[in-house]
Amino acid sequence: MNTQSPAIPARVENKLVYMDNNATTAVDPEVLEAMMPFLKEFYGNPSSMHTFGGKVAADIEQARESVASLLGADHSEIVFTSCGTESNSAAIFSSLFLCPQRRKVVISKVEHPAVHNVGKELVRRGYKVEEIPVDAKGRIDIERLDEAVNEQTALVSVMWANNETGNIYPVDKIGAIAKRVGALFHTDAVQAAGKINIALQNMPVDMLSISGHKLHAPKGVGALYIRKGTRFRPLLSGGHQERNRRAGTENVAGIVAMGKAAEIAARNMREENTRVRAMRDTLENSIVSNIPVTRINGDPDNRLPNTSNISFEFIEGEAILLLLDRLGICASSGSACTTGSLEPSHVLRAMGVPYTAAHGAIRFSLSRLNTEDEVDYVIKHLPPVISRLREISPYWKEPGN
Ligand code: PLP
Repeated sequence: MNTQSPAIPARVENKLVYMDNNATTAVDPEVLEAMMPFLKEFYGNPSSMHTFGGKVAADIEQARESVASLLGADHSEIVFTSCGTESNSAAIFSSLFLCPQRRKVVISKVEHPAVHNVGKELVRRGYKVEEIPVDAKGRIDIERLDEAVNEQTALVSVMWANNETGNIYPVDKIGAIAKRVGALFHTDAVQAAGKINIALQNMPVDMLSISGHKLHAPKGVGALYIRKGTRFRPLLSGGHQERNRRAGTENVAGIVAMGKAAEIAARNMREENTRVRAMRDTLENSIVSNIPVTRINGDPDNRLPNTSNISFEFIEGEAILLLLDRLGICASSGSACTTGSLEPSHVLRAMGVPYTAAHGAIRFSLSRLNTEDEVDYVIKHLPPVISRLREISPYWKEPGN
């Protein structure tokens, strides 16, 4: 028992230290300002013939330019959607529809449910879906991927960066493997966009998904990059919006917001990455050196600068989150989509993280809106939370005892 641990305050009112930015981000004030006129005075339909609607259409095109520029793409390659999930589904189902003679899809074992569960649905529909394993650090087995991708493969879909560990995947190599057999390559870059440089000009990527709410735009808007020349079949049938690639009247305010968010991300990326990485490292190093029996999940040498996934062995992640919540600290155990399930995250299981560690995994994900003071606050309050829970855990033994 650690008798040195300071007490945990009963409840801290009105405090919010938000370190769950891989779940969603705050809307940047500049983004909010840019989108507001489209919820008030500029409510025209961008498909209308009149000048009032035409102005809105022009603003959508400007947003398209900004999103394209963040990705190193051409504006004609960007299709606005409702979210990352829709972009992923549109890419996957289009690839299979247009290549009916190929019945195989290759993904990784650590995809977000927005790809992973599409894979399960494809299996139900009679497709062969091969999930490529990862090693203990969550790195994909490239040789296995190379063996799995063959003339039957219509599509390879592997994420650019993992939402739980922050691991970055070698999309250039993976895309090249897909190209070798004439398969399409799609990547879910929902967590990568705005956090690391994405330069699609010379990348073997046919389609790529992003989401507004992960980069300080609001929820309900996303985009799908479709490389020029890639055949595409829309998920939705209806009007001619988005040059016949995504039917439905546009979420204009959301699209304008996403354009502004992309512009800000591109402008600040290098500087903000350095600052966010420094805060993440301070937090992580302090936790690892002050709290015994912790482990970093993921590949410390190749991760997003904002993400830290740490296991506090022999205690439950949910219990940690509840006590942190009382202190106003928002973090996450696994992905937000699996919270509420008693099963540990499929990502950590794929990495072979032992159950005692997988159950006690917490993800801190920072953004440029975090401050050094907030990091200090977590550094101060986390150790007593962990000590307290370990004191009452039947499984916990102080190292050396
Ligand atoms: N892909 C990844 C890697 C994600 O982290 C998320 C959201 O957590 C999604 C897809 C889904 O994006 P959206 O919430 O925009 O549907």
